[in-house]
Amino acid sequence: MFRSDRMGMPDGLAVIGPGDAGYERVRSTAMRAGSPALVLQPVDVAQVRAALAVARRRGVAVGLRSGGHGISGRSTNDGGVVIDLSRMNRIEVLSERDRLVRVQAGARWKDVAAALAPYGWALSSGDYGGVGVGGLATAGGLGYLAREHGLTIDHVRGASVVLADGSVVRAGADADPDLWWAIRGAGANFGIVTSFDFEVDDVGDVGFGRFVLDATDTAGVIARWGAAMEAAPRDVTTNLIIVPGPDGRLAATIMGVVNSAEPDVVAERFAPLLRAGPLLQQTVRHLPYAQVMDNTGDRPEKVATGEPISRSGLIEHLTPEFSTVAHQFARSGATYFFQFRAAGGAVADVDPGATAYPHRSANFQVGAFGNSHRELGAAWEPMEAHFRGLYLSFDSDLRPERIAQAWPPKTLARLRELKLRYDPGNVFRDNFDLIPPA
Ligand SMILES: Cc1cc2nc3c(=O)[nH]c(=O)nc-3n(C[C@H](O)[C@H](O)[C@H](O)COP(=O)(O)OP(=O)(O)OC[C@H]3O[C@@H](n4cnc5c(N)ncnc54)[C@H](O)[C@@H]3O)c2cc1C
Repeated sequence: MFRSDRMGMPDGLAVIGPGDAGYERVRSTAMRAGSPALVLQPVDVAQVRAALAVARRRGVAVGLRSGGHGISGRSTNDGGVVIDLSRMNRIEVLSERDRLVRVQAGARWKDVAAALAPYGWALSSGDYGGVGVGGLATAGGLGYLAREHGLTIDHVRGASVVLADGSVVRAGADADPDLWWAIRGAGANFGIVTSFDFEVDDVGDVGFGRFVLDATDTAGVIARWGAAMEAAPRDVTTNLIIVPGPDGRLAATIMGVVNSAEPDVVAERFAPLLRAGPLLQQTVRHLPYAQVMDNTGDRPEKVATGEPISRSGLIEHLTPEFSTVAHQFARSGATYFFQFRAAGGAVADVDPGATAYPHRSANFQVGAFGNSHRELGAAWEPMEAHFRGLYLSFDSDLRPERIAQAWPPKTLARLRELKLRYDPGNVFRDNFDLIPPA
C-alpha cells in the first residue's frame, strides 16, 4: 500500500491495502472475491468511529464485515473501504441470573456456542459455526433451535450501534426503540452494530441427525418432509437439502436437531421425517449443542474467487403444487444446492410488526445456489408465485424490486422513514438498499 494512502489514518487503527502482507487474506470473503482499496480492522468502538470517518471522507462504497459469510457478498467491494470487525469478538456474561450475554459483532457462532456451553446455555443462531454474529443477528438468524427458541433477533435485548454520523447509540426497548426495531431484520441499512446483548436459553445435550434419502420422487420427498415438519413438536428443527448424487440421481439430506437429551425422544421425533422417502443412510449423535456448531473443520477458511449466485423465498406450506415445480427446478440443471429450512413454531409466536422481520407465518425458507444468474433466475421463476416474502440473508439478487418482497408495504414505509432519520445520506447502502434508485 502506498504511503500516501496511509496519510490521515487514525493512530493505532489496523489498515490493510493492496500490496500489504495480509491483503490476500482479507480482500475477499467466503462468498465473493473483492479488491477494496482499504480494509480497516478496528478493535474498539472509538476505532470503529474513526474507520467510518475515513470511509466517509473518501466517499466510496462502505462494506461492513463481521464474519464475512454474507451470501450477497457485500462485505467486500472493489475500490471501496471495508470495515472489518473480526478483531471485535469478545463474548461476556452480563448476568447469570438473567442469562444475559454481551457478544461483539466479530465473534463467530461456533465461539458463541462454545462460550455458552459451560453454563448449559445456547443461543438460537444459524447452523454454520463460521458465520459471524454481526451479519446474522441484524438480519434474522434461522437455525437448528428456531422452532423452539425463535430467531436470533428475537433474543436481542439491546445493542450498541455506530450511526452514519459517527454517534454511538444504544438501541433497546427503553433506549431508542425505533432503532432497536429496525436493526432486528434490517440492521445493515442503519449503522454498525458493535455488540449485542442477548438473552439466551437453557439448552443441554441435543440429538443431531443426518439422514440421506433417495429423492427420485423429489416432489413427494419435499411435500412429505414439509408436512412432517409442520406437524412436529417444536423441539425438532431440520433442513432438507437436495443435491445430485455421484451417479446423477437426486438425493435428499435431512439434517437437524432434536432439543432433547433423551435418545427415545430423539428417535421418536426424527421417525416421521424419515418417512419422506426411501432411507439410504442415517447417523444420529447425542452431543452438546456447541459440538453441533463446531462444524467448520480444521481447513483454512474458504475464500471466494467469484460472485455469489443464489435465490431464496419464504413459503407457508410445501403444497403438492409447489413441490411439483420445486421438483422441476431441482432437475433443471441450474442449481447444485437446493435447500429448505424449517421455521414456524416460536418464530411465528412473535408479532409480525414487532421487528423488521415480518414474515412470521412462513414455515419454510427455500434457497438455492447456481453458477449463472440468468439460468438460476429463469429456472427459479415458476416457484415465485408460491412465495410469500423473502429472507435476504440467503439471496444475492440485489435488484430493487427484491426489497418489496423482503418487506411488506407497512414495514417498508416505516424502515424508509427511519432510514431518513438515522442515515439521511445513505452511507449504509452497499447491500440491499432501502432507498429506491432515483
Ligand atoms: C455457509 C453459510 C451458512 C449459513 N447458514 C445460515 C443459517 O443457518 N441461518 C441463517 O439465518 N443464515 C445463514 N447464513 C446466512 C448468514 O446469516 C448471512 O449471510 C449473514 O449476513 C452472515 O453474517 P456474517 O457476519 O458472517 O457476514 P458478513 O459478510 O460479514 O456480513 C454480511 C452483511 O451483513 C451486514 N453486517 C455485517 N456486520 C454488520 C454489523 N456489525 N452491523 C450492521 N450490519 C452488518 C453487512 O451489510 C454485510 O454485508 C449462512 C451463510 C453461509 C455462507
